[in-house]
Amino acid sequence: MAEDRDEAGLRAEVCQIGRALWQRGMVAANDGNISARLPDGTILCTPTGVSKGFLTPEMLTVVGRDGAVVRGSRRPSTEVRMHLRVYAEDPAVGAVVHAHPVHATAFAIKGEPLVGLMMPESVVAMPEVPLAPYATPSTHEVPDSVAPFVGTHTACLLEHHGALTWGPDLMMAYLAMERLEYTAQLTTIVRAIGGERGLSTDRIAEVRRIFGIAAPR
Ligand SMILES: [Zn+2]
Repeated sequence: MAEDRDEAGLRAEVCQIGRALWQRGMVAANDGNISARLPDGTILCTPTGVSKGFLTPEMLTVVGRDGAVVRGSRRPSTEVRMHLRVYAEDPAVGAVVHAHPVHATAFAIKGEPLVGLMMPESVVAMPEVPLAPYATPSTHEVPDSVAPFVGTHTACLLEHHGALTWGPDLMMAYLAMERLEYTAQLTTIVRAIGGERGLSTDRIAEVRRIFGIAAPR
């Protein structure tokens, strides 16, 4: 749990997650942002204008729940309000990741939510990734567009923009981004070979029963 991690450890982990996003091609140039909740409730977040592949711990900024800078010399990401809203909506969220993975962003531009019902793993971990309607960057519209999904999902696409994931800690939020992009990439490929095929309703119900997963609300 994030509560158990000290600030130095979380700073190092944010940098590792940034490196992983960059190495996997999920952020281009200075795109994307990462945040984590500190034990005192303030939020550690990546600064604006920096490649997430080359972060160092001292670059990170700490902001309060209102977005005001508490510690750090760099300006926080302009999208930090989107992160803050996710924490406000669900106290169990310990980390938020925003990226522009190529395949997922293609679906976001098309305006098509992702459906993960082609493989048992996806049925269990991420059966659907909803689409948050387009909102102008850095306005209050952006937090408003993602808020409805926070309590029921771990990820959403941002229309004409990219993707947002969250979880109890940084690794879970990051892995949600990996799974989201994998679903988008796989969907693209199976469509290209004319092979898109969901599991049958019976098979999906069986997987949900065995793994104790409730059907999506
Ligand atoms: Zn973005």
